[in-house]
Amino acid sequence: MLSCHPYPNMSIFPPGSTIGILGGGQLARMLCMEAKRMGYRTLVWTGGLEAPAMALCDEVIEQPFDDPKAIVHFVSQADVATAEFENIPRSTLEAVAAGVPLHPSPDAIATCANREQEKTFLRKQQIPCAPFWIVTNAEELKHAMRALAGPGVLKTSAFGYDGKGQLKIQGNENPEDIWQQFQAPRAILEGFISFKTELSVMIARNGNGEIRCFDPVENFHRHHMLDMTIAPAAIADAVRSRAIEIATRIANAFQYVGIMGVEFFLNPDDSLLVNEMAPRPHNSGHHTIDACETSQFEQQLRAVCGLPLGSTALLCPAVMLNLLGDMWPAIDQSPDWSMLLSDPSAALHLYGKKRAIERRKMGHATFLGSNALQRAKSLKENLLASGRP
Ligand code: AMP
Repeated sequence: MLSCHPYPNMSIFPPGSTIGILGGGQLARMLCMEAKRMGYRTLVWTGGLEAPAMALCDEVIEQPFDDPKAIVHFVSQADVATAEFENIPRSTLEAVAAGVPLHPSPDAIATCANREQEKTFLRKQQIPCAPFWIVTNAEELKHAMRALAGPGVLKTSAFGYDGKGQLKIQGNENPEDIWQQFQAPRAILEGFISFKTELSVMIARNGNGEIRCFDPVENFHRHHMLDMTIAPAAIADAVRSRAIEIATRIANAFQYVGIMGVEFFLNPDDSLLVNEMAPRPHNSGHHTIDACETSQFEQQLRAVCGLPLGSTALLCPAVMLNLLGDMWPAIDQSPDWSMLLSDPSAALHLYGKKRAIERRKMGHATFLGSNALQRAKSLKENLLASGRP
Protein backbone atom coordinates (compact mmCIF):
# COMPACT_ATOMS: atom_id res chain seq x y z
CA MET A 1 0.00 0.00 0.00
CA LEU A 2 3.00 2.29 0.45
CA SER A 3 3.19 2.80 -3.30
CA CYS A 4 -0.19 4.57 -3.16
CA HIS A 5 1.23 7.16 -0.82
CA PRO A 6 2.33 10.46 -2.43
CA TYR A 7 5.79 10.09 -0.82
CA PRO A 8 6.96 6.51 -1.40
CA ASN A 9 10.54 7.28 -0.26
CA MET A 10 9.55 8.51 3.17
CA SER A 11 8.81 6.51 6.33
CA ILE A 12 5.24 7.14 7.30
CA PHE A 13 3.98 7.15 10.87
CA PRO A 14 0.18 7.16 10.72
CA PRO A 15 -2.21 8.27 13.48
CA GLY A 16 -1.98 5.84 16.37
CA SER A 17 1.84 6.00 16.29
CA THR A 18 3.75 7.33 19.30
CA ILE A 19 5.75 10.52 18.86
CA GLY A 20 8.64 10.80 21.32
CA ILE A 21 9.42 14.41 22.22
CA LEU A 22 12.76 15.47 23.72
CA GLY A 23 11.81 18.30 26.08
CA GLY A 24 8.64 19.07 28.00
CA GLY A 25 8.15 22.84 27.73
CA GLN A 26 5.34 24.80 26.13
CA LEU A 27 6.47 23.89 22.61
CA ALA A 28 6.10 20.21 23.47
CA ARG A 29 2.76 20.97 25.14
CA MET A 30 1.37 22.59 21.99
CA LEU A 31 2.70 19.73 19.85
CA CYS A 32 0.96 17.26 22.20
CA MET A 33 -2.34 19.11 21.67
CA GLU A 34 -2.08 18.75 17.89
CA ALA A 35 -0.95 15.15 18.23
CA LYS A 36 -3.95 14.31 20.39
CA ARG A 37 -6.32 16.01 17.94
CA MET A 38 -4.84 13.97 15.10
CA GLY A 39 -4.97 10.64 16.94
CA TYR A 40 -1.30 10.24 17.88
CA ARG A 41 0.19 9.19 21.21
CA THR A 42 2.97 11.27 22.76
CA LEU A 43 5.86 10.38 25.02
CA VAL A 44 7.51 13.42 26.58
CA TRP A 45 11.01 13.23 28.03
CA THR A 46 11.60 16.11 30.37
CA GLY A 47 14.51 16.81 32.65
CA GLY A 48 12.81 19.73 34.42
CA LEU A 49 10.25 20.19 37.15
CA GLU A 50 6.75 21.47 36.41
CA ALA A 51 7.07 20.75 32.69
CA PRO A 52 4.10 22.25 30.82
CA ALA A 53 3.75 19.25 28.47
CA MET A 54 3.30 16.74 31.29
CA ALA A 55 -0.42 17.42 31.60
CA LEU A 56 -1.02 16.86 27.89
CA CYS A 57 1.12 13.86 26.96
CA ASP A 58 0.28 10.16 27.19
CA GLU A 59 3.49 9.18 28.92
CA VAL A 60 6.32 11.09 30.54
CA ILE A 61 9.95 10.34 31.35
CA GLU A 62 11.30 12.55 34.11
CA GLN A 63 15.02 11.85 34.00
CA PRO A 64 18.14 13.77 33.04
CA PHE A 65 18.94 13.70 29.32
CA ASP A 66 22.04 11.57 29.82
CA ASP A 67 20.31 8.79 31.77
CA PRO A 68 21.08 5.51 29.89
CA LYS A 69 17.93 3.74 31.13
CA ALA A 70 15.79 6.67 30.01
CA ILE A 71 17.32 6.52 26.54
CA VAL A 72 16.49 2.81 26.26
CA HIS A 73 12.94 3.38 27.49
CA PHE A 74 12.38 6.37 25.18
CA VAL A 75 13.60 4.47 22.14
CA SER A 76 11.56 1.38 22.98
CA GLN A 77 8.31 3.32 23.37
CA ALA A 78 8.52 5.90 20.56
CA ASP A 79 7.88 5.12 16.89
CA VAL A 80 9.40 8.41 15.74
CA ALA A 81 11.05 11.23 17.67
CA THR A 82 11.54 14.98 17.58
CA ALA A 83 12.90 17.69 19.87
CA GLU A 84 11.32 20.80 21.35
CA PHE A 85 14.61 22.32 22.45
CA GLU A 86 18.16 22.03 21.25
CA ASN A 87 20.24 21.88 24.41
CA ILE A 88 20.32 18.10 24.57
CA PRO A 89 23.66 16.26 24.77
CA ARG A 90 24.87 15.20 21.32
CA SER A 91 25.51 11.68 22.64
CA THR A 92 21.82 11.39 23.63
CA LEU A 93 20.69 12.67 20.23
CA GLU A 94 22.92 10.09 18.53
CA ALA A 95 21.71 7.27 20.80
CA VAL A 96 18.07 8.18 20.17
CA ALA A 97 18.66 8.43 16.40
CA ALA A 98 20.31 4.98 16.43
CA GLY A 99 17.13 3.45 17.84
CA VAL A 100 14.29 5.41 16.27
CA PRO A 101 13.95 7.97 13.43
CA LEU A 102 14.79 11.37 14.97
CA HIS A 103 13.74 14.48 13.04
CA PRO A 104 15.48 16.85 12.69
CA SER A 105 18.80 15.00 12.65
CA PRO A 106 21.29 15.15 15.55
CA ASP A 107 23.57 17.14 13.27
CA ALA A 108 20.96 19.83 12.56
CA ILE A 109 19.92 20.06 16.23
CA ALA A 110 23.49 20.19 17.54
CA THR A 111 24.60 22.76 14.95
CA CYS A 112 21.74 25.11 15.85
CA ALA A 113 22.42 24.61 19.58
CA ASN A 114 25.90 26.03 19.35
CA ARG A 115 26.42 29.58 18.09
CA GLU A 116 29.96 28.85 16.97
CA GLN A 117 28.88 25.86 14.87
CA GLU A 118 25.77 27.66 13.66
CA LYS A 119 27.71 30.70 12.43
CA THR A 120 30.42 28.49 10.91
CA PHE A 121 27.71 26.55 9.06
CA LEU A 122 26.25 29.82 7.71
CA ARG A 123 29.67 31.04 6.60
CA LYS A 124 30.35 27.74 4.84
CA GLN A 125 27.01 27.92 3.06
CA GLN A 126 27.78 31.54 2.10
CA ILE A 127 24.62 32.69 3.82
CA PRO A 128 24.90 36.30 5.04
CA CYS A 129 25.23 36.79 8.80
CA ALA A 130 26.87 39.35 11.12
CA PRO A 131 30.69 39.33 11.00
CA PHE A 132 31.99 37.08 13.79
CA TRP A 133 35.14 35.77 15.41
CA ILE A 134 35.55 32.62 17.52
CA VAL A 135 37.07 33.46 20.89
CA THR A 136 38.47 31.07 23.50
CA ASN A 137 40.71 33.37 25.59
CA ALA A 138 41.49 37.02 26.31
CA GLU A 139 44.21 37.15 23.65
CA GLU A 140 41.81 35.97 20.95
CA LEU A 141 39.23 38.46 22.18
CA LYS A 142 41.83 41.23 21.86
CA HIS A 143 42.49 40.27 18.22
CA ALA A 144 38.78 39.95 17.48
CA MET A 145 38.05 43.37 18.99
CA ARG A 146 40.87 44.88 16.98
CA ALA A 147 39.54 43.30 13.76
CA LEU A 148 35.97 44.37 14.51
CA ALA A 149 37.03 47.91 15.44
CA GLY A 150 33.63 48.92 16.78
CA PRO A 151 30.70 47.84 18.89
CA GLY A 152 29.84 44.17 19.10
CA VAL A 153 28.04 41.48 21.05
CA LEU A 154 29.98 38.75 22.83
CA LYS A 155 27.90 35.55 22.96
CA THR A 156 28.57 32.22 24.64
CA SER A 157 28.96 29.39 22.14
CA ALA A 158 26.63 27.07 24.05
CA PHE A 159 23.43 27.48 26.08
CA GLY A 160 22.52 30.92 24.76
CA TYR A 161 18.91 31.92 24.08
CA ASP A 162 16.58 34.86 24.75
CA GLY A 163 19.59 37.14 25.11
CA LYS A 164 21.16 34.92 27.80
CA GLY A 165 24.94 34.64 27.73
CA GLN A 166 25.36 37.91 25.83
CA LEU A 167 27.36 41.04 26.53
CA LYS A 168 27.21 44.20 24.46
CA ILE A 169 30.61 45.82 24.10
CA GLN A 170 31.61 49.23 22.77
CA GLY A 171 34.97 48.10 21.45
CA ASN A 172 37.24 50.27 23.59
CA GLU A 173 37.14 48.09 26.74
CA ASN A 174 40.03 46.05 28.11
CA PRO A 175 39.69 42.51 26.59
CA GLU A 176 41.23 40.93 29.73
CA ASP A 177 38.51 42.47 31.94
CA ILE A 178 35.73 41.49 29.56
CA TRP A 179 36.91 37.90 29.21
CA GLN A 180 37.24 37.52 32.97
CA GLN A 181 33.78 38.97 33.52
CA PHE A 182 32.22 36.82 30.77
CA GLN A 183 33.19 33.47 32.25
CA ALA A 184 32.52 31.20 29.29
CA PRO A 185 34.94 28.64 27.88
CA ARG A 186 34.14 29.55 24.26
CA ALA A 187 32.34 32.49 22.70
CA ILE A 188 31.83 34.37 19.49
CA LEU A 189 32.29 38.09 19.10
CA GLU A 190 29.74 39.37 16.64
CA GLY A 191 29.55 42.80 15.04
CA PHE A 192 26.71 44.93 16.44
CA ILE A 193 24.06 45.28 13.73
CA SER A 194 22.06 48.52 13.56
CA PHE A 195 19.09 46.76 12.02
CA LYS A 196 15.86 48.34 10.84
CA THR A 197 13.80 45.49 12.24
CA GLU A 198 13.89 41.77 13.01
CA LEU A 199 12.11 39.14 10.94
CA SER A 200 11.65 35.41 11.12
CA VAL A 201 10.47 32.66 8.83
CA MET A 202 9.09 29.31 9.89
CA ILE A 203 9.99 26.65 7.34
CA ALA A 204 8.99 23.00 7.21
CA ARG A 205 10.62 20.29 5.12
CA ASN A 206 9.64 16.63 4.96
CA GLY A 207 11.70 13.55 4.10
CA ASN A 208 10.74 13.85 0.47
CA GLY A 209 12.25 17.31 0.23
CA GLU A 210 8.87 19.04 0.09
CA ILE A 211 9.12 22.54 1.58
CA ARG A 212 6.50 24.96 2.89
CA CYS A 213 7.23 28.37 4.43
CA PHE A 214 4.94 30.49 6.55
CA ASP A 215 4.88 34.18 5.66
CA PRO A 216 7.78 36.14 7.20
CA VAL A 217 6.80 37.92 10.42
CA GLU A 218 8.21 40.96 12.21
CA ASN A 219 9.46 40.56 15.78
CA PHE A 220 9.83 43.05 18.63
CA HIS A 221 11.69 42.31 21.86
CA ARG A 222 11.40 43.38 25.49
CA HIS A 223 14.13 42.49 28.02
CA HIS A 224 15.87 40.61 25.14
CA MET A 225 12.85 38.31 24.88
CA LEU A 226 10.23 38.18 22.16
CA ASP A 227 7.45 40.60 23.04
CA MET A 228 5.27 40.82 19.93
CA THR A 229 5.11 39.23 16.50
CA ILE A 230 3.31 40.91 13.64
CA ALA A 231 2.09 38.72 10.79
CA PRO A 232 2.61 39.34 7.99
CA ALA A 233 5.73 41.52 8.20
CA ALA A 234 5.35 44.86 6.41
CA ILE A 235 8.23 44.29 4.01
CA ALA A 236 8.88 44.63 0.29
CA ASP A 237 8.11 41.57 -1.85
CA ALA A 238 11.80 41.24 -2.69
CA VAL A 239 12.69 40.99 1.02
CA ARG A 240 9.97 38.43 1.57
CA SER A 241 11.21 36.29 -1.33
CA ARG A 242 14.83 36.61 -0.19
CA ALA A 243 14.00 35.57 3.39
CA ILE A 244 12.16 32.50 2.10
CA GLU A 245 15.00 31.70 -0.31
CA ILE A 246 17.60 31.85 2.49
CA ALA A 247 15.48 29.71 4.82
CA THR A 248 15.06 27.18 1.99
CA ARG A 249 18.81 27.06 1.37
CA ILE A 250 19.42 26.38 5.07
CA ALA A 251 16.77 23.63 5.23
CA ASN A 252 18.12 21.94 2.09
CA ALA A 253 21.74 22.19 3.26
CA PHE A 254 20.82 20.22 6.39
CA GLN A 255 18.56 17.83 4.42
CA TYR A 256 16.28 19.00 7.19
CA VAL A 257 13.16 17.14 8.27
CA GLY A 258 10.86 18.98 10.65
CA ILE A 259 10.08 22.61 11.34
CA MET A 260 12.67 25.34 11.79
CA GLY A 261 12.62 29.02 12.70
CA VAL A 262 15.11 31.27 10.92
CA GLU A 263 15.64 34.67 12.53
CA PHE A 264 16.90 37.62 10.51
CA PHE A 265 18.11 41.16 10.97
CA LEU A 266 16.74 43.46 8.25
CA ASN A 267 19.24 46.21 7.49
CA PRO A 268 18.25 49.77 6.56
CA ASP A 269 19.20 48.99 2.92
CA ASP A 270 16.79 46.00 2.97
CA SER A 271 19.59 43.41 2.96
CA LEU A 272 19.12 40.44 5.30
CA LEU A 273 21.47 38.80 7.80
CA VAL A 274 20.63 35.52 9.51
CA ASN A 275 20.81 35.93 13.29
CA GLU A 276 20.10 32.35 14.33
CA MET A 277 18.12 29.20 13.63
CA ALA A 278 15.82 27.24 15.95
CA PRO A 279 15.52 23.54 14.97
CA ARG A 280 11.94 23.29 16.25
CA PRO A 281 8.74 25.36 16.50
CA HIS A 282 9.49 28.93 17.51
CA ASN A 283 7.80 31.55 19.67
CA SER A 284 7.44 33.78 16.60
CA GLY A 285 5.30 31.07 14.96
CA HIS A 286 2.66 30.88 17.67
CA HIS A 287 0.21 33.05 15.72
CA THR A 288 -0.06 30.18 13.18
CA ILE A 289 -2.29 28.30 15.66
CA ASP A 290 -5.10 30.83 15.27
CA ALA A 291 -4.21 32.62 12.05
CA CYS A 292 -3.01 30.00 9.55
CA GLU A 293 -4.59 27.04 7.81
CA THR A 294 -2.01 24.76 9.48
CA SER A 295 -0.29 25.58 12.77
CA GLN A 296 3.47 25.30 13.13
CA PHE A 297 2.89 22.38 15.53
CA GLU A 298 0.70 20.44 13.13
CA GLN A 299 3.30 21.17 10.45
CA GLN A 300 6.03 19.79 12.73
CA LEU A 301 3.97 16.65 13.26
CA ARG A 302 3.30 16.27 9.53
CA ALA A 303 6.97 16.69 8.61
CA VAL A 304 8.22 14.34 11.34
CA CYS A 305 5.61 11.65 10.66
CA GLY A 306 6.13 11.66 6.89
CA LEU A 307 2.74 13.18 6.04
CA PRO A 308 2.11 15.72 3.29
CA LEU A 309 2.80 19.24 4.59
CA GLY A 310 -0.21 21.47 5.26
CA SER A 311 -1.07 24.83 3.73
CA THR A 312 0.78 27.71 5.38
CA ALA A 313 -1.74 30.31 4.19
CA LEU A 314 -2.24 33.20 6.60
CA LEU A 315 -6.00 33.59 6.90
CA CYS A 316 -5.93 37.13 8.28
CA PRO A 317 -3.44 39.61 9.77
CA ALA A 318 -2.43 38.65 13.31
CA VAL A 319 -0.40 39.88 16.25
CA MET A 320 1.00 37.60 18.94
CA LEU A 321 1.73 39.10 22.36
CA ASN A 322 3.89 37.11 24.74
CA LEU A 323 2.53 36.95 28.29
CA LEU A 324 5.54 37.14 30.60
CA GLY A 325 5.57 36.67 34.36
CA ASP A 326 5.90 40.42 35.05
CA MET A 327 2.32 40.82 33.78
CA TRP A 328 1.08 38.76 36.75
CA PRO A 329 0.10 40.85 39.81
CA ALA A 330 1.94 38.37 42.04
CA ILE A 331 3.87 35.17 41.56
CA ASP A 332 0.79 33.04 42.26
CA GLN A 333 -1.95 35.44 41.17
CA SER A 334 -3.33 35.34 37.64
CA PRO A 335 -4.15 38.59 35.80
CA ASP A 336 -7.74 39.63 35.10
CA TRP A 337 -8.34 38.28 31.59
CA SER A 338 -11.71 40.00 31.00
CA MET A 339 -10.32 42.55 28.54
CA LEU A 340 -8.79 39.80 26.40
CA LEU A 341 -11.70 37.41 26.72
CA SER A 342 -14.24 40.04 25.73
CA ASP A 343 -12.41 40.58 22.41
CA PRO A 344 -14.18 38.28 19.94
CA SER A 345 -11.09 37.99 17.73
CA ALA A 346 -8.48 37.23 20.35
CA ALA A 347 -7.28 33.91 21.73
CA LEU A 348 -5.70 33.23 25.11
CA HIS A 349 -3.06 30.51 25.40
CA LEU A 350 -1.72 29.70 28.86
CA TYR A 351 0.95 27.09 29.45
CA GLY A 352 -0.23 25.91 32.87
CA LYS A 353 2.84 27.23 34.74
CA LYS A 354 2.05 27.79 38.40
CA ARG A 355 4.72 30.29 39.40
CA ALA A 356 4.82 33.56 37.46
CA ILE A 357 8.53 34.29 37.73
CA GLU A 358 9.23 37.74 36.26
CA ARG A 359 10.64 36.83 32.82
CA ARG A 360 9.00 33.45 32.46
CA LYS A 361 6.91 32.81 29.36
CA MET A 362 3.51 32.09 30.94
CA GLY A 363 1.46 32.13 27.75
CA HIS A 364 0.62 34.21 24.73
CA ALA A 365 -2.35 36.01 23.22
CA THR A 366 -3.16 36.16 19.52
CA PHE A 367 -5.18 39.02 18.04
CA LEU A 368 -6.73 38.67 14.61
CA GLY A 369 -7.83 41.37 12.18
CA SER A 370 -6.58 44.61 10.73
CA ASN A 371 -6.39 46.51 14.04
CA ALA A 372 -4.74 43.60 15.89
CA LEU A 373 -1.64 45.60 16.80
CA GLN A 374 -3.60 48.32 18.53
CA ARG A 375 -5.59 45.78 20.56
CA ALA A 376 -2.45 43.84 21.48
CA LYS A 377 -0.75 47.04 22.66
CA SER A 378 -3.79 47.99 24.77
CA LEU A 379 -3.79 44.59 26.46
CA LYS A 380 -0.05 44.81 27.08
CA GLU A 381 -0.38 48.25 28.70
CA ASN A 382 -3.30 47.03 30.78
CA LEU A 383 -1.44 43.92 31.97
CA LEU A 384 1.81 45.75 32.69
CA ALA A 385 -0.09 48.41 34.67
CA SER A 386 -1.67 45.78 36.88
CA GLY A 387 1.41 43.52 36.90
CA ARG A 388 4.36 43.51 39.26
CA PRO A 389 5.51 47.05 40.25
P1 AMP B 1 19.82 36.06 20.21
O1 AMP B 1 19.70 35.34 21.51
O2 AMP B 1 21.13 35.89 19.53
O3 AMP B 1 18.65 35.83 19.29
O4 AMP B 1 19.74 37.63 20.60
C1 AMP B 1 18.58 38.17 21.20
C2 AMP B 1 18.36 39.55 20.65
O5 AMP B 1 19.52 40.39 20.89
C3 AMP B 1 18.17 39.60 19.12
O6 AMP B 1 16.86 39.26 18.76
C4 AMP B 1 18.53 41.05 18.84
O7 AMP B 1 17.48 41.91 19.22
C5 AMP B 1 19.71 41.29 19.81
N1 AMP B 1 20.98 40.99 19.12
C6 AMP B 1 21.60 39.80 19.09
N2 AMP B 1 22.72 39.85 18.34
C7 AMP B 1 22.84 41.11 17.90
C8 AMP B 1 23.76 41.81 17.06
N3 AMP B 1 24.84 41.19 16.55
N4 AMP B 1 23.54 43.11 16.80
C9 AMP B 1 22.47 43.76 17.32
N5 AMP B 1 21.54 43.16 18.11
C10 AMP B 1 21.71 41.85 18.40
